[in-house]
Amino acid sequence: MRTQRQVVDYSLQKRAVLRELLAGRVGTYDVCDASPYLKNAARFHGEPTDRRCPICRSENLTLVHYIYGDELKQSAGQARTLTELPVLAMTLREFQVFVVEVCLGCDWNHLVEQYLLGRDGLAGDSDGAGEQDVAAAEGAGRRRREAQR
Ligand SMILES: [Zn+2]
Repeated sequence: MRTQRQVVDYSLQKRAVLRELLAGRVGTYDVCDASPYLKNAARFHGEPTDRRCPICRSENLTLVHYIYGDELKQSAGQARTLTELPVLAMTLREFQVFVVEVCLGCDWNHLVEQYLLGRDGLAGDSDGAGEQDVAAAEGAGRRRREAQR
């Protein structure tokens, strides 16, 4: 998505959890604890994948996209389908997306990544705020370089 930015990838944390599980330091009941809300979100708003669940290996994972941000008002914290996100990204200045993978077979769930979406990420925004930010950042960089001299 064009306005996607500040991506945080949680695959390392996920691998760490799976390692703990393999080593027997945590049980499947600790990591396969998807709430009824999360499972409903996966059923109604989820994005099917062709990746097998790392725990039960019998179901494919579903990705759920949760959205957060002041501009969303009462919609904050709700799940959205992947196709709804670009529309929101063009309407709102900025909102946070949390992507959670869920297995509807064994209830495994883990945060996959988070990122920001919204018009603030577009260069040449109609009100020029984006360009001003770039100019301000360049100015700050120049001042820093001058200070180092
Ligand atoms: Zn599973």
